[in-house]
Amino acid sequence: MSLREAVQKLKRELNIVDVIGEYINLKRTGRNYLGLCPFHSDRKPSFTVSEEKQIFRCFGCGVGGDVIGFYMKFHNLSFGEAVKELARRYNIDISSLYSSRQEDQTSEKRQHLLVLNEQAKRFFEQMLWVAKGGQEARDYIAQRGISRDTARAFGLGFAPASYDSLASHLRLSRVDLSLAVEAGLLAVRKDGSFYDRFRQRLIFPIYDLNGKIVGFGGRVIERGEPKYLNTPETAVYHKGRLLYGLFQTRSFIRKAGFGFVVEGYMDLLALYEYGVREVVATLGTALTSYHVRLMKGFTSNWFLVFDADEAGVKAACRTAPLFFNEGVYPRVISLPEGEDPDSYVRRYGKEAFLREKERALPLFDFILKTLKNRIGAGPEGYVSLIRELAPVFEALKDPVLYELYLARLSEETGVGVKAIRQALARGLKATVKVTNPEDKRYFERTVLEFLVFHPEFFAELEAEGVEEIFTQDLYRRLYTELSLLWRTKGRFDIEELSFADMELQTLISEILLSPPAFEEEVPPSKVAEEIKVCLRKRRQESRLLGLIKAIKEAERQGRHEEAQRLLQKYQELRCDL
Ligand SMILES: [Zn+2]
Repeated sequence: MSLREAVQKLKRELNIVDVIGEYINLKRTGRNYLGLCPFHSDRKPSFTVSEEKQIFRCFGCGVGGDVIGFYMKFHNLSFGEAVKELARRYNIDISSLYSSRQEDQTSEKRQHLLVLNEQAKRFFEQMLWVAKGGQEARDYIAQRGISRDTARAFGLGFAPASYDSLASHLRLSRVDLSLAVEAGLLAVRKDGSFYDRFRQRLIFPIYDLNGKIVGFGGRVIERGEPKYLNTPETAVYHKGRLLYGLFQTRSFIRKAGFGFVVEGYMDLLALYEYGVREVVATLGTALTSYHVRLMKGFTSNWFLVFDADEAGVKAACRTAPLFFNEGVYPRVISLPEGEDPDSYVRRYGKEAFLREKERALPLFDFILKTLKNRIGAGPEGYVSLIRELAPVFEALKDPVLYELYLARLSEETGVGVKAIRQALARGLKATVKVTNPEDKRYFERTVLEFLVFHPEFFAELEAEGVEEIFTQDLYRRLYTELSLLWRTKGRFDIEELSFADMELQTLISEILLSPPAFEEEVPPSKVAEEIKVCLRKRRQESRLLGLIKAIKEAERQGRHEEAQRLLQKYQELRCDL
């Protein structure tokens, strides 16, 4: 039983459109589905998914592959891990088909951490809802206006004040406590004993998009420092890749076609409680471009809820390039002085909060306005204003928006467009993009594509020595894979063309989703004939070259008779060409 068979089973049972559709909005266009590519800064949908062929390909950045390739790349997994995770996620039993020691070890570690986190979450929930000591936390939740249903939906819990609640619970459950340290749940004292990291805190489990608990956030209930404590980076928790609440709210975001970004867990829960469910929160960190790519998979229409204070403007300035680079142009909602989403929605309700969308400013306008207020008018102010905006302009790749924003800046400051352009240019490093020359389709490529589409000619062409023509390493690798399949199966179907190698995946998807390099209208047998003629020609040419070499060598060594004989042979061969 092999990985190959496991892969085939997986690919038979999964539909690539369903799997990718969980992370990216796909729209049907003709025979394919289109969406924004999660792997590059995609402005207009260039990410194509073919249901018929069960592959994806981005015509922007060129990445492509099958369902496993997508899963690998999107979740940053190895081939074996992706196979296992997909099987687990979609309940496809491949256990009898595939297991590999090394992948088992990494994936086992991740698995153990996830199981442990789940166990810890249940413990914290127990402490919140059942334990006597949880009263204070229950009061706090109620006082913040969070219902039991909402708290349950997000798996809220409570970590008691003791240094030994979770630790002794885990010890009794015979959990390896050093694993709990790796999970960021426990810490080790100098004497080697273990103690709880989360104490006297309300616990917010953090889910990944598969609904697995990858980490925790803890908020102090009364007093204590720090106010928020999060799981450190672990094998399953990467704060730069996670958004709080997205697992629970993504279907609302997708359905509504917009989403809010807030800064705290409690803000998110309050909004959710009051019926604003299209919302995610950052995990106490700045947004990353990974976040933005994740977000734009659900909608491009985002509203950032920032405080209008100094920190809020800083955050906006820092965030703008990330969004603009991804071709996402969010708007900013700045709530009235002294309000946060939590207090606002409790005071004014859902409808009022939703109406704030209409007053939201485009991110650039928000930055411009608040910076101007802060820095003030006058020549010196404008100079520093332009300097602060330089990175934002640098990130603006849309030439139309660039000009529009430039005009806006000029209008706001009274500084001429030309002068601003010069000032910006001085502030920017030259970023020269080297574009790859158009991939030329060589003979090798044509032959390879023909073989993929018409495996029935495989034997014929192999007999003509086709494998010798591949000089490009990638092509040779694909040919080797194909011939292996051919030898074991006598055919190859698309579902069998799954390779651990992402480069091969990309090549295959490119071949399957681009117009073929050979003439499609011509009957394949005729194409095969032409290829054969070319192959023979090439072989003869290389034989001729060999002969020329041999003749020269013979001459050099004074073997004139032999040289003469070789020359005759050469002339005969030439005539055949
Ligand atoms: Zn792309």
